[in-house]
Amino acid sequence: MTRTALVLGDQLSRDNPALEGADRVVLITSRALLARPGLHRQRAHLVLSGMRHLAEELREDGRVEVEQRTEDRLLDGVDALDGDVVCAYPTSWTMLEALQERGVELTPAPQFLTSPEAFERWAGGRRSLKMEDFYREQRRRLEVLVDDAGEPAGGTWNLDADNRRPPPKAGLDAPEPWRPTEDAIDEEVRHDLDRSGIAFWGKDAPRGFAVTPEEGTSALRSFVQGRLAGFGPWQDAMVDGERTLFHSNLSVPMNLGVLEPMRAVRAAERAYLRDDAPLQSVEGFVRQIVGWREYVWGMYWLRATQWPRRNAMGAREPLPQAYREGDSGWRCLDETVRSVRETGYAHHIERLMVLGTIGLTSGIRPWELVRWFARGFVDGAEWVMAPNAAGMALYADGGEMMTKPYAAGGNYVNRMSQHCPSCRFDPKKRTGEDACPLTALYWDFLDRHRDDLAGNRRIAMPLRSLAKIPDDELDAIRARARRARKELRGTAA
Ligand SMILES: Cc1cc2nc3c(=O)[nH]c(=O)nc-3n(C[C@H](O)[C@H](O)[C@H](O)COP(=O)(O)OP(=O)(O)OC[C@H]3O[C@@H](n4cnc5c(N)ncnc54)[C@H](O)[C@@H]3O)c2cc1C
Repeated sequence: MTRTALVLGDQLSRDNPALEGADRVVLITSRALLARPGLHRQRAHLVLSGMRHLAEELREDGRVEVEQRTEDRLLDGVDALDGDVVCAYPTSWTMLEALQERGVELTPAPQFLTSPEAFERWAGGRRSLKMEDFYREQRRRLEVLVDDAGEPAGGTWNLDADNRRPPPKAGLDAPEPWRPTEDAIDEEVRHDLDRSGIAFWGKDAPRGFAVTPEEGTSALRSFVQGRLAGFGPWQDAMVDGERTLFHSNLSVPMNLGVLEPMRAVRAAERAYLRDDAPLQSVEGFVRQIVGWREYVWGMYWLRATQWPRRNAMGAREPLPQAYREGDSGWRCLDETVRSVRETGYAHHIERLMVLGTIGLTSGIRPWELVRWFARGFVDGAEWVMAPNAAGMALYADGGEMMTKPYAAGGNYVNRMSQHCPSCRFDPKKRTGEDACPLTALYWDFLDRHRDDLAGNRRIAMPLRSLAKIPDDELDAIRARARRARKELRGTAA
């Protein structure tokens, strides 16, 4: 019987176990997936380019028959396959169910280091599911930055206290990230997308991220040589005109499956052992991958069916216009949305402390923000967005992932970015014409949730400050927060 390897768009690893022993490989382009509202044009380009590069490579190799199909729905293409079908573990719950219903044989997902079952065993019976505990076990299990006794290099597991530096006024002047050179496949992809008739969100631009293993290697090398050393101290900084700063730009190749996470981790570890990068940067980077990335993958599956309904803070606002148009008049938000439209990228702190925090304090419905993130970013996907946006940023899980909501006012953005001096609002003010909407929304959020958060010791101090605000000032804060929501929706007069 024919054995068909079905390769989905984010399973492009050349070591995909589904390819072993296959007579043919099938890659299906789904028109419906491309036409989902809000999908970033550059995201569509990256996935199609990655799939077509893999298909070309397999054809040149000549050992297996390769078939590329375009269907209205991906599952139409799966239904049309005869014989045995094998596929790597998919990255969404709905796809898993659909493949299981069709009797598709599943192999482990090559893009990750921890299976959903292993994560479930780690989580089983624990009272706390915090990332830090998982991360330490991962370091020991994978033998990363540990000595022979399993103790952490440098004597400390987490060196974040040495990081989180605000940016200097003059900016940071980080080396430019590696960018690929487009080829004939990219030209063909651009032509097809131009002719598709789909109204994508986000601009087209020369492809900016790696989609093949060779490109993934180049992007990794450039990061380790040029930016890893600065990763730790500057990972939370936001600087005008410097989008990537010292971040790695590696989420795209890792999520597409063309850069193995462990290669990135070992490359960083070697840089530390050679004294090419300080431990605070290497540990910080390693934590993002063996810690956060794997933890988020595990948390997605642990709560797979629950994520779409989770809304512990009772958020009711629809996704506001400002997240599509960048027209709120708030500099930090508009600049970040503009960057996402232009490049499909914003770094972690812009995602968490600008887009996420405003979503939390203004009360955007979690699943709407998850969808916006998952479609609007070059590295977006449900598995990574549900825990990050709903869990980490919006506290929709009621604190399963985070010990407190990531709520903050304009002062945080002022300290960590260059946005505020050229914004018309004052981050220190929470009432009045020039009051910063983030600051007003922050106090309004605490006010609306003071009972829900009363038992949380980590938020006790701000709640004590809230209790001292006089009633008339609190009314003015509420009014400013109401106007802020209108500004987000584009309905403020
Ligand atoms: C609200 C929100 C939305 C996010 N959406 C996405 C997304 O759609 N896709 C995505 O891959 N990541 C997402 N992240 C996680 C993280 O912000 C991105 O992985 C990172 O910004 C990608 O840029 P980089 O490759 O330069 O990362 P770096 O800052 O250089 O980090 C190195 C790598 O660590 C991994 N990583 C770091 N933090 C996380 C995390 N919290 N979850 C998963 N992986 C992590 C990524 O693979 C990343 O490439 C999101 C985080 C938040 C708070």
